[in-house]
Amino acid sequence: MVIVMRKDATEAQINHLVAKLKEKGLSAHVSKGTERTIVGAIGDERILQAVPLAAFPGVEKSMQILQPFKLVSRDFKAEPTVVQVGPAKIGGRHFGMIAGPCAIESEEQLITAARKVKALGANLLRGGAFKPRSSPYAFQGLGEEGLKLLAQAGKETGLPVVTEVMNVNQVDMVGQYADMLQIGARNMQNFDLLRAVGEVKKPILLKRGLSATIKEWLMSAEYILSQGNYEVVLCERGIRTFETYTRNTLDLAAVPAAKELSHLPVVVDPSHATGRRSLIAPMARAALAAGADGLTIEVHPHPEDALCDGDQSLHPEEFEQVINDIKPMLPLFGKTI
Ligand code: PEP
Ligand code: MN
Repeated sequence: MVIVMRKDATEAQINHLVAKLKEKGLSAHVSKGTERTIVGAIGDERILQAVPLAAFPGVEKSMQILQPFKLVSRDFKAEPTVVQVGPAKIGGRHFGMIAGPCAIESEEQLITAARKVKALGANLLRGGAFKPRSSPYAFQGLGEEGLKLLAQAGKETGLPVVTEVMNVNQVDMVGQYADMLQIGARNMQNFDLLRAVGEVKKPILLKRGLSATIKEWLMSAEYILSQGNYEVVLCERGIRTFETYTRNTLDLAAVPAAKELSHLPVVVDPSHATGRRSLIAPMARAALAAGADGLTIEVHPHPEDALCDGDQSLHPEEFEQVINDIKPMLPLFGKTI
């Protein structure tokens, strides 16, 4: 249930409503918009029906949210959410340009990539320290050592850093080093992990599962918001289809679809979506045209030596080309980096 407060509702009236909802065993989520405050009451529908919401001072109206996802839905919050990651913003008119290597391999590799992407205009640095690999024999990431290098590269370049957390036990450790935590495609429905990152005071980059529907993806975001963390950015990274020429099939329609259904920002990962360097620039342009709030792109100083995802990693010069393509398009779509 969404409870819309009157424009002149006081803080005391909002608090009174929230306290009553909690007393009834419901959870209350307050969203302060520019115009008015709305309160999401989540819980057993039968209890909700017994609460005379319209009788509370300061309440204008209440509406049932019909979608299975509540807090992430546009009905709960009409304005787009802007997620702040350090000095960077993603959402609304703010375009997030996330770039960096697939995996952190060494100090030299990471700092070179970080300096290059920063100089070219990226506003967030990515790099995996815990890598979800299809083969147990493939490079699994440097672990905490990698996180230290990432934090150091972030500090040196002034870029906030995003990295993947693969399980519940890693949440605290990754949270100590990263500005934003990534939930990888393979973990999109690891509900314990979603709940755990919902309790963290850090923004989350939630990648769409390999075969997840848009609704399932939004339900996963709902897990995070339901725990009190509202700073979630969705990431479309391609889905499994019968096509094998590309690594995955970039579902570009998912971008406007998710934005129609939800107020959360949506970014696109053309690197994992296509698996091919040559397709990254055109898909980056298409993502922006489809309404994406940002991009995440793998960049490696020497892709031919990459320990992970070399085929899809851009040389810094190729990344420069992507940036040069994107920059003049940004104002056309009401965005700035
Ligand atoms: C990644 O971004 O490093 C990654 C492993 O992506 P995905 O979870 O989308 O496969
Ligand atoms: Mn990768």
